[in-house]
Amino acid sequence: MANTAHNPESVCRKVHTLVLGSGAAGLNAALQLRNNGVEDIVVVTEGLQMGTSINTGSDKQTYYKLGMYGEEKDSPESLAQSFYSGGSMHGDLALVEAALSPRAFFNLVNIGVPFPRDRYGQFVGYKTDHDPLQRGTSVGPYTSRKMCQHLIRELKQREIPVVENRVAVRLLTLGEGNEKRACGAIVMVNDPGQQNDGAFETYLADNVVFAVGGPGGIYKTSVYPEVHTGAIGLALLAGAKARNLPDSQFGMASIKFRWNVSGTYMQVIPRFISTAEDGVSDEKEFLLPYFSSVGAMNSAIFLKGYQWPFDTRKVVEGSSIVDILVYIETVLKGRRVFLDYRSNGEGFDFNDLSEEAYTYLQNSEALFGIPIERLAKMNQPAIDLYADHDIDITTEPLEIAVCAQHNNGGLAGNLWWESENIGRLFPIGEVNGSHGAYRPGGSALNSGQVAGFRAAEYIANAYGNYELDEDAARKAGKEAIAELQETLRKGGEQGRDWREHREEFQTRMSRAGAHIRSQEGLRAATEEAWRQWAEMRENGNKCAPDNPREAIEALRNVQLCFTHAIYLEAVRKAVESGVGSRGSTLVLDRDGTPAHPMLDEEWRFASEDTNFRNVVLETAPSLEGEVTQEWVERRPFPAFDAWFENAWAAFRKGEIYY
Ligand SMILES: Cc1cc2nc3c(=O)[nH]c(=O)nc-3n(C[C@H](O)[C@H](O)[C@H](O)COP(=O)(O)OP(=O)(O)OC[C@H]3O[C@@H](n4cnc5c(N)ncnc54)[C@H](O)[C@@H]3O)c2cc1C
Repeated sequence: MANTAHNPESVCRKVHTLVLGSGAAGLNAALQLRNNGVEDIVVVTEGLQMGTSINTGSDKQTYYKLGMYGEEKDSPESLAQSFYSGGSMHGDLALVEAALSPRAFFNLVNIGVPFPRDRYGQFVGYKTDHDPLQRGTSVGPYTSRKMCQHLIRELKQREIPVVENRVAVRLLTLGEGNEKRACGAIVMVNDPGQQNDGAFETYLADNVVFAVGGPGGIYKTSVYPEVHTGAIGLALLAGAKARNLPDSQFGMASIKFRWNVSGTYMQVIPRFISTAEDGVSDEKEFLLPYFSSVGAMNSAIFLKGYQWPFDTRKVVEGSSIVDILVYIETVLKGRRVFLDYRSNGEGFDFNDLSEEAYTYLQNSEALFGIPIERLAKMNQPAIDLYADHDIDITTEPLEIAVCAQHNNGGLAGNLWWESENIGRLFPIGEVNGSHGAYRPGGSALNSGQVAGFRAAEYIANAYGNYELDEDAARKAGKEAIAELQETLRKGGEQGRDWREHREEFQTRMSRAGAHIRSQEGLRAATEEAWRQWAEMRENGNKCAPDNPREAIEALRNVQLCFTHAIYLEAVRKAVESGVGSRGSTLVLDRDGTPAHPMLDEEWRFASEDTNFRNVVLETAPSLEGEVTQEWVERRPFPAFDAWFENAWAAFRKGEIYY
């Protein structure tokens, strides 16, 4: 890697392939680039301990893969059907994610990720949501963390360079329109105590693998790890086309330490309470009035264990009414909601539970005592996990909310994960919007691993040469730094504090663009969003002068604020087009179905128009707020030639890449 400093504060480096981000997706992409013979690579990242993959998990964090146990009959096409049947996913992407699933999975196994197998070497699985077979597997609560740890070890052994403490603040491109291509990034050094702390650095590259994760930072109520904001906005600001942005997943999570309260946290049936804002006074068991009996309420709570994401199909007489009631308490009434494991709820009786709940607890030998005792019996590590984060659920209630967790949509990529409108930009992992309305639980991790194989193979075979016009790229880098410096200067003089700005757009997004949506709410929210964006463009964000941490947050706000405006536009488009309620997102509609007989008229919701499962929403942004949005037919399953000699010839000639 050449090191060509072009001024004292700002270093410029040229590399063949830049990998931005070191989550499970970025790390594997780097490894596969090296396996494909691309030597001149660097991973540039906020840090190896940053991002979602290494900082998150759940009761049993799931990895979805091709079934390969016993007599189970699975195939790439059958797995692809499971992806595709979720709706709004392109057929070719479904097939690729299925076809590469075993390769991606065994790569992880071979580098040491301890996925459970039996004494015959078979990989046993379990059924996850939207899964017709038993394709889910797990290493425990921290599957994605383990994946990262083993991938990091591999990168070290292979001496793949990683530059940490860098926050990307601009994606560099050359050319216009259909000729636009990525050529690198500007980062800010975030390394307290180092001489270059706060300096800009330029990374010029023939190819950019963009692995910056999901859009955690646009939400106020979120179970993305606090350290993770994501950076899809850098690509949106560069004009990258996005896909299916409105399709996200939401569910109940603890908020002091962000963690999904799924699985045994619900199966032990904690007491749901709400209090006044002080967290103590006016305590109520607020769910009870909405259920026909105590047993019905407790059975619904139990079901939230394996029906974790908020699902609009399970609202009427289903377990997702719980999420709505929690939302009403927290967001609309301004109260606080807690899970209390220290006692059973009023009138609790095992004999009133549904057969499913009763049998489960019986089989788990947990038909006794109070929730914390049942949890200790069934899953002591679930208690320890909170203790490790200074929350003692044996003595204090656990505060929860309905939180943003995952974006099925993201940037639009082709079947090699190259951006559909910016050449040599490869969005991979959660920032790539390969999924649509529904996806099997665990398929996010599969998709991120598959993506690394695809991008690496394509770069090695189609973009292996050095072809970048370095002078032009360097010039673009210098201009970008000058603009960024100007943004910081303006902010220092006239901007609103960056914290205030962030609070504003996060609050708006969680209020209008999260799991509860309405036409009126979105109309107002998009207008406010563009007003905030215009203000931020004009005046920047105020931050403490000469404090790199603040400068970084001020520049981060620029891409996050733009991102939230684009997401709101996309959500509004979906709602106004009449998609209705689907996945984890409910659209309020006065002519729709009542969510619950006891709730006000406003709690009627639109049903899903399933015709929209055959199309994909494409969103192409412009800086001025002119957003082009289009519903396009989804690509069908590709026809493939199963004759070996023909496939072999096409492979030998490299035709598969073009
Ligand atoms: C609570 C929770 C539970 C989940 N459970 C499951 C599950 O059971 N199964 C499943 O399949 N999925 C699950 N997911 C989703 C899955 O964990 C994520 O989609 C996946 O880990 C994302 O991986 P990634 O590599 O794309 O991004 P990340 O792991 O988020 O990595 C992004 C990387 O980019 C870096 N980065 C970001 N911005 C910048 C910037 N500006 N400059 C430099 N670097 C930057 C970050 O520091 C990080 O290194 C869950 C998610 C959450 C939040």
